[in-house]
Amino acid sequence: MRMGRREFLEGSSKLVSAGVLAAGAGAGAAASAGSAAEAQTPKRKYRLIATEEAFAIPEQVDEFRKIASIAYTNPDLDMWRNFLNPVPNAPPLVRRLLDLEGERIQIMDEAGVDMHLLSLTSPGVQMFDKDTAASLATLANDRLAEVVKKHPTRFAGLASFAPQDPARAAKEIDRAMNQLKLNGLIVNSHTNGEYLDDRKYWPIFEAATASNAAIYIHPRNMPDPCSFMTHADVNLAGAIWGFQMETGLHAMRLIVAGVFDQFPSQKIILGHMGEGLPYWLYRIDYMYKQFTHGHGKLKKLPSEYVKDNFVITTSGMNDHKVLKYCCEALGADNVIYAIDYPYQESVESANFMNSAPLPEEDMEKITHGTSEKLFHISPA
Ligand code: MN
Repeated sequence: MRMGRREFLEGSSKLVSAGVLAAGAGAGAAASAGSAAEAQTPKRKYRLIATEEAFAIPEQVDEFRKIASIAYTNPDLDMWRNFLNPVPNAPPLVRRLLDLEGERIQIMDEAGVDMHLLSLTSPGVQMFDKDTAASLATLANDRLAEVVKKHPTRFAGLASFAPQDPARAAKEIDRAMNQLKLNGLIVNSHTNGEYLDDRKYWPIFEAATASNAAIYIHPRNMPDPCSFMTHADVNLAGAIWGFQMETGLHAMRLIVAGVFDQFPSQKIILGHMGEGLPYWLYRIDYMYKQFTHGHGKLKKLPSEYVKDNFVITTSGMNDHKVLKYCCEALGADNVIYAIDYPYQESVESANFMNSAPLPEEDMEKITHGTSEKLFHISPA
């Protein structure tokens, strides 16, 4: 049977979707397929909005510098000590965090990334005393709003707040969303070993839901120095394993504390393909039923909150197998694109996304469609 042009095009776009052809070599270009290098670098096909992209302000770095000189062991502080005194040939993290309009935009262009949804880098303001933290969050949000206003098609921003002072945090959330017109919120997991399921923090959810603001729960190191010390010999604190334990735990605490029965419209964003939650859904539900003898106080099963209240991002997880699994487990509506700049590579990440073996309609949602809705970003 002869294939018409339309069927050929559809057929080849399926092959592109299935990752068989490089995305850049689809349709008409297939006949004159490019070099191997081109095949490895899919051309941009989608508007790429990257949603976990870190920045810093000099005042925040100065505060880390001050507390880094104090001789106590804390894994977040050790992380910052490394950033401030990098080993030779380490990536220029602090330079890249402090830059917004120079090297960052060049790297975005090189990778074909349209937009960074910016957020103040981990652990944000959460290691500082409450007045320093609240003032820094306000300053960072003002700076963020300025750069977003200047480059509205390249940047959007998640506002910071200081959980150390919940009432002031609620006011800052309102200001950031309604006056500065920022796009959502970020929190770096625990604050002094406390989690947002504690009712004293619920004014934060009241303010966030009133402004339809999604909250990105970004990792930081676990609070317990003993657990850190236990793992220090094998270096499993930080992004290799500790971050997802900490952040996944935070998410689970919110679920079982009933935060989403009280605030059913609250959306929580988790990076790193959901910090392990999508993989555990069956066992979480099974054990929740077993532990509560069928009389749990939640209105729904834990997995239902994961699907209804959480959106996960691809940050730092350039793995097509996991992406496909997460789309199946949570639905493609609950998965969005992120890089984790400057901690991970932009070109590799964009290539991973552009060549993902998913249907076109899912690709449209994951690369930008869902993020536009979730974060109030104007469609291109
Ligand atoms: Mn990150």
